[in-house]
Amino acid sequence: MLISRHALERHRIVIDKAYEPGAMNYHGAEFRQTDTLTVKAVAELAGEEIRIRGFLKTRIEAACDRCLNAVSLPVERDFDLTYRPVGTIAREEEMELPEGELDIGFYHGDGIDLGDVLAEQVILALPMKVVCREDCLGLCPSCGADRNAGACSCPAPQSVSPFAALGGD
Ligand SMILES: [Zn+2]
Ligand SMILES: [Zn+2]
Repeated sequence: MLISRHALERHRIVIDKAYEPGAMNYHGAEFRQTDTLTVKAVAELAGEEIRIRGFLKTRIEAACDRCLNAVSLPVERDFDLTYRPVGTIAREEEMELPEGELDIGFYHGDGIDLGDVLAEQVILALPMKVVCREDCLGLCPSCGADRNAGACSCPAPQSVSPFAALGGD
């Protein structure tokens, strides 16, 4: 769905949409949308800028960074985004957006593709590190066994406890 500047010049656009798994293009991101993505938002024009405010909700499945098992994560995100037409500011200025203006993007031509906006917001909502649980033991670096399922037969790694050097009991 294109959020068209032409349409916004006449009236704001109220967005209330649902995208089934598979309908969104996440541009090769390494996760899978497993639940319907719902979005409620309002797009309006403020001068030259397109502003989109709203809320999205879905569920995704990604691999645990330590053990590679699938982790299901709820995604709920408020967003308030501003897009400037790309032709109106100088290149150098574009490079030097002050911090705090990170939510400013740019649009080309007549508007923004809503799907691209939402895909970016889902990606931003994900944690930097995905772990199945805080104390996930991960995979054995020698044999690749999932250590959450039990100890493998590899020799135990050298202790790296700082107390070992103190020579206590
Ligand atoms: Zn894990
Ligand atoms: Zn092992």
